[in-house]
Amino acid sequence: MQRKKIIVGNWKMNPLSSSEAEKIFVNVAKKLPTLKNTEVVICPPFVFLDKLKKIRTTKIRLGAQNAFYGEKGAFTGEISAEMLELLGVKYVILGHSERRAMGESNQDINKKIKAALFAGLVPIVCVGESERDESHKFFNVVKMQIEECLAGIPKNLISKMIIAYEPVWAIGRNAVREATPEEFREMSIFTLKIISKKFGTKIKMPRIIYGGSVDEKNASGFIREGEADGFLAGRASLNGDIFTEIVKTCEAYEN
Ligand code: PEP
Repeated sequence: MQRKKIIVGNWKMNPLSSSEAEKIFVNVAKKLPTLKNTEVVICPPFVFLDKLKKIRTTKIRLGAQNAFYGEKGAFTGEISAEMLELLGVKYVILGHSERRAMGESNQDINKKIKAALFAGLVPIVCVGESERDESHKFFNVVKMQIEECLAGIPKNLISKMIIAYEPVWAIGRNAVREATPEEFREMSIFTLKIISKKFGTKIKMPRIIYGGSVDEKNASGFIREGEADGFLAGRASLNGDIFTEIVKTCEAYEN
């Protein structure tokens, strides 16, 4: 059976107010058609989750942009995976490059993945190199991220997570250039190889999605030629029209 595609919108630290957040969310929910083959997840800032959860829609699930590994206690400023789950959140982005840039290590991410899985959340684990070098050392960077982030995760839980390949050089306004579908496909195959080497070939594999300047124009290439299982979108997720077009591209695809 074909697995559903998944489109994750990462709003990052946007918008400013909860009324704006509600407007964007409701607008996207209205624009989205009925979906059979695609899951849509929106990850707003923590402070808007409770309000957005109360908006009735079956088309969008909620995700968080981070979670801490401790269960509860003296962790000032942190939010646990279980707190998110109790709030009605289903997904959590972990190891985003913007958090790695603030000092988050593969070991931290590993603990967060375990806590998220334990709480019943679906971790969306971000990996990706900062730059591409001609000697192809970037493959080792991604290999180490995958091996260290997934260390000690039980085999049967591997398919419960989603891996987002996000080459840092292709993300955001300062992107050097767009990645190509071929570059994604190569990294996706490489990722699956590392996982089967570590956990065996018999396990059910996670979905591998692409992130980095995805929009309504380049989405179909990543789906068709790149064989992406979906997207992690930043800027595009704040624009109802563009985000809906990306979702429709995934929904229309049949392999
Ligand atoms: C991101 O930061 O995860 C991202 C993919 O951003 P953008 O789509 O804006 O490049």
